[in-house]
Amino acid sequence: MSGALQAPPQRERRHGGTGLDADLLQRLSAIAPSRADEPLARHTTFGIGGPADIFVTVRSADELARAVTEARAAAAPVFILGSGSNILVGDRGVRGVVIDNQAKDIEGPARRDGAWLLRAESGASFAALARRLAKDGYGGFEWASGIPGSVGGAVVYNAGAYGGCAADVLRSATLLRADGSRTATPAADLKLTYRNSIFTRGECDGCVVLDATLEVVPGDAAALVARIDAIDAERLSAQPRGRTGGSTFKNPEGRRAWELIDAVGLRGHRIGDAQISTLHCNFFMNVGAATAADVSALMSEARRRVKERFGIDLQNEVALVGEGF
Ligand SMILES: Cc1cc2nc3c(=O)[nH]c(=O)nc-3n(C[C@H](O)[C@H](O)[C@H](O)COP(=O)(O)OP(=O)(O)OC[C@H]3O[C@@H](n4cnc5c(N)ncnc54)[C@H](O)[C@@H]3O)c2cc1C
Repeated sequence: MSGALQAPPQRERRHGGTGLDADLLQRLSAIAPSRADEPLARHTTFGIGGPADIFVTVRSADELARAVTEARAAAAPVFILGSGSNILVGDRGVRGVVIDNQAKDIEGPARRDGAWLLRAESGASFAALARRLAKDGYGGFEWASGIPGSVGGAVVYNAGAYGGCAADVLRSATLLRADGSRTATPAADLKLTYRNSIFTRGECDGCVVLDATLEVVPGDAAALVARIDAIDAERLSAQPRGRTGGSTFKNPEGRRAWELIDAVGLRGHRIGDAQISTLHCNFFMNVGAATAADVSALMSEARRRVKERFGIDLQNEVALVGEGF
């Protein structure tokens, strides 16, 4: 495992003499491949973000739990990175330990308790899961085929599209809690609402989703795949391709964020290399070498104008993470 340890030379004691860097990096490397100063721009769909002090790539839920526990024992801040599709990472990056969740094991579907259930580790791709299930003749997930996040991220945000959301299919999740315990938590206890959950509301501080148990319904594979193809086509016509975090703001009650942003004249507006999409005004794009500061300036401008004109406070859907905006 020592080959995975890539400490840069003369980089030590940056954290106020706690010895966090080298010692913790070494201990984490015994659990999973770990390196220092990994640029997070490589791991976000925006293609933006400064370095993580320590970046650990875990490949199972067990490694995920062990890495979190090890980092916490050293009192290091921990950030769980799913697919990086709903975050804007600051230009100075993230202090402490970023855990790159590549735990992707899937068991099932199998018949249990009168239903067809599968268990997916939290790093599994939500979209890939939806596509595989449809091909195998299991329905209930077609709406998720274009959501580029992980199962963990989908639970945290109650990801949804085209009339479906995670709450519709989630039975339970295994959580690693801040005290180190693992609990099988029923979906109802996660309080999933529109892009919110106990995680986003700060009601489960330090909780990590290790896996999720999801319910599917047997169906006709050809019809399910056709439904996914139709959703793909609809997405392609309505949403831009490129480096983005998807919807930037949540839709305010009874309104659509893109319409508000359009109405205040920001379609196509650009700051540096960050641009509001001309196709979908709630998609903010990195059209070159945009910085987090560019994107967050564009977000502030949208918030300011929408507040001024409509008296509405736009709420971020994309989460700002780390330092340097
Ligand atoms: C092109 C595009 C289209 C999109 N379309 C949609 C859409 O239609 N519907 C929709 O809902 N969203 C959409 N999104 C947003 C995004 O894909 C979802 O919010 C997704 O659920 C985020 O998952 P992620 O794994 O990428 O999370 P990340 O961005 O990696 O992380 C987001 C947050 O979740 C936390 N987190 C991630 N995994 C865990 C875990 N295992 N345990 C605890 N916390 C965790 C992170 O710490 C972070 O705070 C889109 C994004 C893009 C780029």
